[in-house]
Amino acid sequence: MSELTVTGLTVRFAGLTALDDVAFTVAPGSVHAVIGPNGAGKSTCFNVLSGVYKATEGSVRFDGTELTALRPDKIAALGVARTFQNIALSRNLTVESNLMLGRHRLTKAGFVAAGLRLPHACREDARHRARVREIARFVGVEEYLAAPVAGLSYGVQKRLELARALALEPRLLLLDEPVAGMNGAERVRMAEVIRRARADLGVSILLVEHDMGMVMRLADQVTVLNFGKRIASGPPDEVQRDPAVIRAYLGG
Ligand code: ADP
Ligand code: MG
Repeated sequence: MSELTVTGLTVRFAGLTALDDVAFTVAPGSVHAVIGPNGAGKSTCFNVLSGVYKATEGSVRFDGTELTALRPDKIAALGVARTFQNIALSRNLTVESNLMLGRHRLTKAGFVAAGLRLPHACREDARHRARVREIARFVGVEEYLAAPVAGLSYGVQKRLELARALALEPRLLLLDEPVAGMNGAERVRMAEVIRRARADLGVSILLVEHDMGMVMRLADQVTVLNFGKRIASGPPDEVQRDPAVIRAYLGG
């Protein structure tokens, strides 16, 4: 089980401090939510954790390894997988191909050997396909495995993004607004998949979310950001009643 520890995290863009001395810990096997109004720095935080942005100052440690100097592919190889606020799938490929691409780093034989249909590569390929089917079933997209992504509903595509992250066999999942733009039924379904990812697969989850209901249902701990600063942290029911949090959301 893996712990993520963020300390003193500061990110400055020209003339703007997007994150200011932020600290939090994601305990092993837990769901930790990062919430806050628009522009609070939530996505910036994700982009630093996944290696897309560089931290100006501070430290991000995952299982004792410092992540701030590492490239995105190295961070993913350590078992940290992410989804994006806006869907980032290959739209012309099938669901299965998207999930196989998600397993790229796990493929020992490599795609060239697989393409040449060498026997060891074929066996490995078959194993990956079987696992991809299991993951597709887990998130409820198995029936679409042979379908191109472009024709699928928004809700299915969002679940597929989660499946693609799970295809990396991560120990920590970073989910950026997983239910944004979804209707009520799709939200309930996604919440259930996230709950099971933690319960059945044992992954730790860092969740950036706008939907307070989702946060209340899923999170063990919540960190609240406003204008790049941490203004509260604790269990969801406590944080929800915190006057500073209420003020931030009301824009006061
Ligand atoms: P949130 O996800 O909480 O809505 P963001 O992390 O996207 O907030 O943005 C925090 C602040 O940082 C915003 O003021 C945003 O405009 C700014 N910001 C984010 N990314 C960049 C960037 N690449 N360059 C300059 N400013 C950025
Ligand atoms: Mg955002």
